[in-house]
Amino acid sequence: MTKPVVTVIGSINMDLVTIANRVPSQGETILGEQFHLIPGGKGANQAVAAARLGARVHMIGAVGTDTFGKELLHSLEQEGVCIDNVKPVTYVETGIASITISDGDNRIIVVPGANHALCPEDIEHCEEIIAQSDVCLLQLEIPLSVVEKAACLAKKHDVRVILNPAPAQPLPQQLVEQVDILTPNEHERDVIFGGMDVSQFAHKLVVTEGARGVTMMKNGQPTLIPGFSVPVVDTTGAGDTFNGALAVALSKGMRLEEACLFGNAAAALSVTRLGAQTGMPTEDEVRQFLK
Ligand code: ATP
Repeated sequence: MTKPVVTVIGSINMDLVTIANRVPSQGETILGEQFHLIPGGKGANQAVAAARLGARVHMIGAVGTDTFGKELLHSLEQEGVCIDNVKPVTYVETGIASITISDGDNRIIVVPGANHALCPEDIEHCEEIIAQSDVCLLQLEIPLSVVEKAACLAKKHDVRVILNPAPAQPLPQQLVEQVDILTPNEHERDVIFGGMDVSQFAHKLVVTEGARGVTMMKNGQPTLIPGFSVPVVDTTGAGDTFNGALAVALSKGMRLEEACLFGNAAAALSVTRLGAQTGMPTEDEVRQFLK
């Protein structure tokens, strides 16, 4: 059987994770407990999720020509993600997220770096790849002009567009109109539609609600597609797993409700394991879980 094709246009970051007993005060130096380099970025995470679940995935993004960039490309390649359209950028570093975890609390600084060097012209060069995709999967960790160009080209070729609108920001109405499915969490939904009339877009909304599952419109009514009750180890990347899984399920021709159920199952499996990309399940694991 031919694999469904998902094109992800988004961020590729290295997460620099420091674990310490406490946070230093201003001017103070303390010793930490652990340090980890973990591949991340919403785009790359969702690409890995989709690849593990059996899609042929094209990643469109940008990394620096530094060590992190090389490592991130290698790790995407190992997951079977096509990196031919990840742009190497010489004048700015690979994107990073500096994460400090202490006392169950985290503090995060994201430096977009090369992710913000992606421009609408880069997307124009990938028109053929977008045109041949079943689904185009987008997030908001790259310039909005790039997201708009991608949505526009996907629509031109009748390719379904999923936008995971994170991190939250108000969106131009035209972009919302071009997107087929929007997957905010409740906070992101409130930021996007704060001043807008949601009702005309309600049919496009799949709102993720953590362990509760997701709410989508069914027969004109908001309907909860319940999540799965699982032992929680680490919820990092649950949203990214859900989005990758939703894209794969829709590419395979599932209806939206069935695809949301598949997404809930994949995301539930991911929270039972440590790490964002490391915790993402394979297609077989989700099938077994749903039996
Ligand atoms: P994040 O940014 O942390 O990845 P998010 O805020 O984008 O997450 P959530 O709504 O927290 O997204 O989670 C996405 C989906 O993951 C949920 O709709 C659900 O299917 C699944 N999920 C999240 N947390 C749990 C949990 N504790 N138990 C089972 N499933 C969960």
